[in-house]
Amino acid sequence: MRILIVEDDPLLADALTQLLRSRHHAADTVTTAEMAEDAVDHENFDLMILDIGLPGMDGFELLRRLRAKNRHVPVLVLTARDAVEDRVAGLELGADDYLVKPFANEELLARLLALSRRSRNLTMGHKYSYGPLELNLEARSASLRGVVVDTPQREWDLLRLMVENEGRILGKERIVAELCAVEKELSANAIEVYVSRLRQKLEPAGIRIRTVRGFGYMLEPWLDDFAS
Ligand code: CA
Repeated sequence: MRILIVEDDPLLADALTQLLRSRHHAADTVTTAEMAEDAVDHENFDLMILDIGLPGMDGFELLRRLRAKNRHVPVLVLTARDAVEDRVAGLELGADDYLVKPFANEELLARLLALSRRSRNLTMGHKYSYGPLELNLEARSASLRGVVVDTPQREWDLLRLMVENEGRILGKERIVAELCAVEKELSANAIEVYVSRLRQKLEPAGIRIRTVRGFGYMLEPWLDDFAS
């Protein structure tokens, strides 16, 4: 992947560049939002890592401008500000994900990979992939390494929602709301049943659905294809 790093701290920018190159990604670094806007106007990047606190225009303003211009490069925001209002503001402006400094390298790589896969899945349209799992949206079918997995309607809808949101926590209320577009009556307890059935089918292939206690579920980012 070709990744644009927008970071004014030279030590962090350098560490990020080295980390990405060590995983065979191409990394370009700019130190201001103005330079980043210019780069995105003239070249194609698969992902952007964006610092919020920058000299001149800040990261939020850059996000606003990019989205206003319909530039859809997936953006991972890096910020020392962990205030909830900042996160919400950034998501509303079109950031795809957040990481609060300081962060672990593996966490950053996992988020980038999930971001890139989500974006690829959305542009591919009719097929989603996640490690050994493939969803065919037209046929509404799921397969593991080419072998069809039996997924009744609600299980399939839930699985699709999870793959679309790989690496993000999905609250039970959101799951109920999304699945109710298909089927009117659904309790939070029923969601647990569907999750448990999906786990039985997917865990043998190494696919893990994590329970976030008191809140919901998360399909863990798939890590095995870092080198690709
Ligand atoms: Ca900064």
